[in-house]
Amino acid sequence: MGKLLIVGTVAFDAIETPFGKTDKILGGAATFIGLAASQFDVDAAIVSVVGEDFPKEYLDLLEEKNIDISAIEIVKGGKTFYWKGKYHNDLNSRDTLATELNVLADFSPVVPENYKNSEVVMLGNLHPSVQKSVIEQMETKPKLIVLDTMNFWMDHALDELLDVIKHVDVITINDEEARQLTNEYSLVKAAAAIHKLGPQYVVIKKGEHGALLFRDDNVFFAPALPLEEVFDPTGAGDTFAGGFAGYLAETKNVSFNNMKSAIIHGSNLASFCVEKFGTERMKGLERKEVTKRLMQFKELTQFDIELQ
Ligand code: AMP
Repeated sequence: MGKLLIVGTVAFDAIETPFGKTDKILGGAATFIGLAASQFDVDAAIVSVVGEDFPKEYLDLLEEKNIDISAIEIVKGGKTFYWKGKYHNDLNSRDTLATELNVLADFSPVVPENYKNSEVVMLGNLHPSVQKSVIEQMETKPKLIVLDTMNFWMDHALDELLDVIKHVDVITINDEEARQLTNEYSLVKAAAAIHKLGPQYVVIKKGEHGALLFRDDNVFFAPALPLEEVFDPTGAGDTFAGGFAGYLAETKNVSFNNMKSAIIHGSNLASFCVEKFGTERMKGLERKEVTKRLMQFKELTQFDIELQ
């Protein structure tokens, strides 16, 4: 079984969408990545931090999904990372209303000994210095290091972000963030500019408009499954990244061709995530549902065309 090391926030989220709002519920980049990756035969661990206010049942949930949580530090008397967001009517854009780093502000990650040889490292959204420290602690060179980030870190820790980006193989980023990072409106130009920053592979997520995978002049596109109802997009990007990294860790094949399949797996899982608030849909998701929808994906994208 491939080993997958995940770093990212484990958080409290408060979410408002046109369909309703929640008080503090389970969220965080590493949470969504872990839940998505647990759909694959991988040995996954999360490196993160929470406060003493974090309910044990949330940690139990991750453990029930066979995720190693021994490297989720619990800070005595500390408060868990908190994020509050409000979606606009089209659900494609949102405003961040609050980001409270709390225990994340002084976090020094410790990679467990038995994950220092992980094949795949998924650096989920959190401070780029924490992402860098995780890379530095690896004892064997991972087959693949994937990094996800967001505008918050471009605004608050750009130098550290540019530094860690140099050391990763794949970056997953959404379209607006790719534009912010590169000052290029065209996503093709933005991807080319990101290649120059370090990553050999650039994945640009476009929400309900799918995702693009770039490797130099090669481009692959995966649509998002057209859904009747999108309830809450929170965590879709992380779920996508978790599916992408989970599939690559399971198959231990990091070729461009296999990454195409990984993108489809990521998109497929993200399509479930958005159907309910927070982690609600991913919590009980069964593999047979995932496989069934994968067939729909295949139907959606397959066509025969005669070329002269
Ligand atoms: P996504 O919708 O995929 O962009 O991810 C949303 C998740 O990211 C939420 O569960 C938040 O807890 C988490 N999040 C929001 N802002 C940050 C941040 N600045 N750093 C790390 N995680 C964050």
